[in-house]
Amino acid sequence: MHLDDLPRIDLAHLPTPLEHLTALSSLLGGPSIFVKRDDATGLATGGNKTRKLEFLIGEAIEREADTVITTGAMQSNHARQTAAAAGRAGLRCVLLLENRHPIADSTYEVGGNVLLDRILGAEIIELAEGTDLFEAMDICEHQLRESGAEPYLIPIGGSNAVGALGYVDCAIELVEQSESLGVRIDHVVHATASAGTQAGLVAGFAGLESGIPVTGVSAGMPADDLSAFVFDVAVKTAEIIGAPGSVTREMVVVDDGHVGPGYGLPTTEMLDAVELVARTEGLLLDPVYTGKAMAGLMAMIRDGRFDPDDNVVFVHTGGIAGLMAYGSVFDRPPSPS
Ligand SMILES: *Cc1c(COP(=O)(O)O)cnc(C)c1O
Repeated sequence: MHLDDLPRIDLAHLPTPLEHLTALSSLLGGPSIFVKRDDATGLATGGNKTRKLEFLIGEAIEREADTVITTGAMQSNHARQTAAAAGRAGLRCVLLLENRHPIADSTYEVGGNVLLDRILGAEIIELAEGTDLFEAMDICEHQLRESGAEPYLIPIGGSNAVGALGYVDCAIELVEQSESLGVRIDHVVHATASAGTQAGLVAGFAGLESGIPVTGVSAGMPADDLSAFVFDVAVKTAEIIGAPGSVTREMVVVDDGHVGPGYGLPTTEMLDAVELVARTEGLLLDPVYTGKAMAGLMAMIRDGRFDPDDNVVFVHTGGIAGLMAYGSVFDRPPSPS
């Protein structure tokens, strides 16, 4: 297995730290919980898309593109990191943002990631809710070509086999950190949505023959659809890294039990998880992805899925800028505990 000789640029602060959450682990009374700090990748408030963009922007430059296009929800962390990465590489960035209204918050359309997108110099095209984002990307690409630009398309979430290479790199880091810290990793849990993070981790652990199981906690999609998508991307990723055939369908596990009413919509257990982790560890999760994934990890612990001497790694995929546009959902009476 290898990542050498693939087009790549340097964007992230790597390796990200692997930290033991001592207080949270003892409070929950289950396994030892470690956090892989991919919220601290460093690019314009960080997050998981930065690892993917090292390879995606690398390919864009190799193809001599001058413009990148990507798409997502209004408060897309991926769009914000793409804007930052494109700027650093000297590329123009066009963001097609779907104006969904998951929450009634006055900052949703102007604050958080949207504010940063503007500061970072991206051109924002707002799309009405329900727009076919794939078609919108095609139309935008066509128009840019007509105008003489050389566009490079980055799929939603940066999730194709090239983007997933960033999470192969994360899998390699985790195995190295496990060895250097003397901490056996029994399980990895993280938020999953557009498949690239999970596909890269699964392909990376499979390519290393590490046997480390991964559970993706869905932020939106039903488990059947999302796991089929993750498997497809993971198989292609394994081919690129020279480990064809190493990924099996059984390695792709998606838990869709913590989505609640839908993508981006708050749940009580998400709010509880975000507040608990903030108050015990000073660690900020986000309402759309990592808060729900942490609620999923806590439920797995309650259900007795781990032994007390297990070490579980929670990959913190970021989302801090998005949190800043979700203030109103944390405006609730203190819980009676
Ligand atoms: C995009 C994102 C995810 C999901 O990662 P995918 O690779 O799309 O599955 C998780 N957490 C945060 C904060 C994100 O922005």
